[in-house]
Amino acid sequence: QISERSILQVRGVTKRFGGLQALAGVDLDVREGEIFGLVGPNGSGKTTLINVISGFYPLTSGTITLDGAEIGRDPAHEIARRGVARTYQIPRPFVNMTVLDNVALCATFGGPARSQAEIRDEAMHWIGFTGLGGKEDVLPAGLNLHERKFLELARALAARPKLLLLDEVLSGLNPTEIDNAIRLVRAIRAQGATIIFVEHLMRAVVELSDRVAVLNEGKLFALGAPREVMRDPRVVSIYLGK
Ligand code: ADP
Repeated sequence: QISERSILQVRGVTKRFGGLQALAGVDLDVREGEIFGLVGPNGSGKTTLINVISGFYPLTSGTITLDGAEIGRDPAHEIARRGVARTYQIPRPFVNMTVLDNVALCATFGGPARSQAEIRDEAMHWIGFTGLGGKEDVLPAGLNLHERKFLELARALAARPKLLLLDEVLSGLNPTEIDNAIRLVRAIRAQGATIIFVEHLMRAVVELSDRVAVLNEGKLFALGAPREVMRDPRVVSIYLGK
């Protein structure tokens, strides 16, 4: 259920890389339980926003508040400890660890200390949930792209996030895999997580998002219900202009 309460507040966030302003003063509120789509032309700052929310990059100025606590200056591991998990556009598993160990390691981050057996059970649960059953003992190099993407999801889920940040999990997947991923994202939300996802595939943005934010040149350009936003002539024109 989507509550009226905002779980994440982004205020005046800027991010500079040398002379380049990747984020130029972004204000956003994400509601608890919401699936929030983040779209925009290439280079508009979508991944950078995910990177500053997750603490992967320090922000240049502004504030980010999670559940009332200011996290904008916290390191990534502290933000993860507060319940924020993310996936990467290019999957980043531990290459020398099996699928099971990759997921189990993330399960040790979530919640209170537990026994090895409990952690293993939880990892197996998420492996099954993401359709990777049977691949427990495989190394990431032995997975295809779709399985690597779903391993990213299993790892993020094992951390039991309250806020999950997904960066283009659907890119490179075939239509059947995309449908599976969409079902998975809905199931993750049904378990109580709030989700922010960056996506190019408009069908998925419209099907999944409760609300969509459009970034353009590091600024919030449009915000609202996906069907209205994606039909907005101003939004169409920034896509066609690139
Ligand atoms: P999007 O995800 O919308 O395609 P990005 O957030 O990746 O856009 O990039 C926004 C801008 O910031 C781009 O101009 C990009 O080249 C720049 N940028 C992103 N990450 C870095 C970085 N680590 N170093 C320098 N410039 C970066």
